[in-house]
Amino acid sequence: MALSLSVNSETSAPLHEINKHWVKKFDENHHLITTEHGSWVVLDGKEFRLFKMDKLEEDLNLFSVLEEKGVIITERNHDKLTNMYRMRFNRIFTGTNLHIITPTLRCNQGCLYCYPYAVHENKKGVDMDKKTAKATIDFIFQSPSPYLTIEFTGGEPLLNFPMIEFMIERAKKINKSKEADESGWWNGIKKITFQLVSNLTLMDEEKLEYLMMNKVHICTSLDGPKKIHDKNRPWVKGSSHEKVVYWIDKLKELKYPFFSTAMPTVTRYTLPYVRELVDEYIKHGLNHISFRPIFIAGRAEQTWDKIGYTAEEFVEGWKNYLEYLLELNRKGVNMVGDDIIILLRRIVTLQPSSYTCLGAPCGACITQAGYNQWGDVFTCDEGKNSDVFKLGNVKENTYREVFTSKDAINFIGLTTTVQDDTSPWHPYSSPCHVSSYGQQKNLITKTKQDYILQVHDLQIEHMFRKLIFNPEDAKIMMNWVKNSSI
Ligand code: SF4
Repeated sequence: MALSLSVNSETSAPLHEINKHWVKKFDENHHLITTEHGSWVVLDGKEFRLFKMDKLEEDLNLFSVLEEKGVIITERNHDKLTNMYRMRFNRIFTGTNLHIITPTLRCNQGCLYCYPYAVHENKKGVDMDKKTAKATIDFIFQSPSPYLTIEFTGGEPLLNFPMIEFMIERAKKINKSKEADESGWWNGIKKITFQLVSNLTLMDEEKLEYLMMNKVHICTSLDGPKKIHDKNRPWVKGSSHEKVVYWIDKLKELKYPFFSTAMPTVTRYTLPYVRELVDEYIKHGLNHISFRPIFIAGRAEQTWDKIGYTAEEFVEGWKNYLEYLLELNRKGVNMVGDDIIILLRRIVTLQPSSYTCLGAPCGACITQAGYNQWGDVFTCDEGKNSDVFKLGNVKENTYREVFTSKDAINFIGLTTTVQDDTSPWHPYSSPCHVSSYGQQKNLITKTKQDYILQVHDLQIEHMFRKLIFNPEDAKIMMNWVKNSSI
């Protein structure tokens, strides 16, 4: 029986068209139909045959379900379906709201997967100067989005803390003033969120006080227990793990209200220790975690033989991680997988997600942009590691010039259209074109070889299997979705 029921008193099926769809047959009684706008339905063998032969007048209940989901198009559901498409692709109607800035390319750690390919902390000429910092903030304020998240990442951003302070003050000042209005940049005051992504090795009380006063959200990396974290994130001055957990504990103890969370980067070294990884988060009072594959970008391109894995190897580890989270939740431990929420939201809701790296188009140039220390503008944060993804410069171009440029439009076109159109997971999954370029040295990815696309496809299939065949696990995961704003 199709997943939802509704009563229809008509005796013949109204005129209709079959919408674009894909089919995944799990077994004789479970045919999953997926659609481009994300709705889906599971049909049993009889229903599937009626659907395929377009004999829906023989089962008007089935007709109603397919109409409701937009698998078929009728006069009655035309407007509703248009809205469903609009919601599904909502990100293309918003201005760029996530702006990720590199105040310095220097870093004091040598993480094996570093996407921006940070340089030694003593290197000269790779810090953002005041002129560039001012131009970057002024450029960001030209975005039509009423919401701006200004994120400082690196390198290690705390190595150029004065420039972070300068940019925060500049953003606060122009948001209050008429300067921007007079320049015709935007109408009205924007809601700004500041965010710092730091390894926390250089954090101190004074910096923390400034960050607190300015409601700066702090996010850091915790790659698991000491043996994994220190291997992934070497630091010449000692154990980077000891330093980061000191500050995580401190932020928790101080009840720092804007501590977003910690996130792990999963390398080959992590895969045998997924339980230990989750336990490490619990040990430090963190009840959210995310288990995401490394993109092949920056230093990860060079170290891939050491730290990389196949899509299948990664997903095997990820399944173990998910099972452990479910096991903990069954025992009453509140531990949530943010990556699971992101995947599930693609499947069970048409609502747009704030996560930019899943979907076609992805958020590159649409909801996200990256800025390096010289004011060059890139498609997204990860794109900063190659000039292939450069769109312009904040000192030479306006926002309009950059985001209506051929390069930006072409890149959005690429992330929208270069997919595996034969796959039933196509509406939920996507490659990352920065990672594809790192893997294949070609912007037009060969989808059958695309490692990130394979990971997403396998994960989406697993999510569907949970939803269809394992209601208890599905209930736990759906609760995570309901209680989350990701
Ligand atoms: S190109 Fe890749 S890293 Fe950039 S926003 Fe898209 S999916 Fe994310």
